[in-house]
Amino acid sequence: MDCIFCQIVAGEIPADILYQDDEVVAFRDINPLAPTHLLIIPRKHIPSLVDLSEVDSPLVGDMVNAANQLAKREGVTESGYRLVLDCGKQGGQLVPHLHMHLLGGRQLSDALG
Ligand code: AMP
Ligand code: ZN
Repeated sequence: MDCIFCQIVAGEIPADILYQDDEVVAFRDINPLAPTHLLIIPRKHIPSLVDLSEVDSPLVGDMVNAANQLAKREGVTESGYRLVLDCGKQGGQLVPHLHMHLLGGRQLSDALG
């Protein structure tokens, strides 16, 4: 498996892991775009949102729950934060393993595009 995020899940390459449970793993983005920039991923290799089966869709809720806990830990709950799911080439997805960005700690742009 040459998926970089699967390798992080397996402990084969290092990452600053902040949270893990049976379903999801969260770590700091290697190229942070904000003071808090975390990635929350399912342990299971799901390439992108379009590959998410109905059976696996509760994982997205698990990812949001983990993100909300991490936002508290990072101290951005009051100031606010953004959760982003990129999907596919024009959606800006570079790593083909489903992931949610948690961005916070500065005023984010109103422009999403
Ligand atoms: P996306 O553009 O939505 O696919 O986001 C992929 C994100 O993964 C980018 O923000 C990268 O900086 C981040 N990234 C890539 N490789 C690593 C890594 N080894 N550890 C942590 N973050 C990574
Ligand atoms: Zn993977």
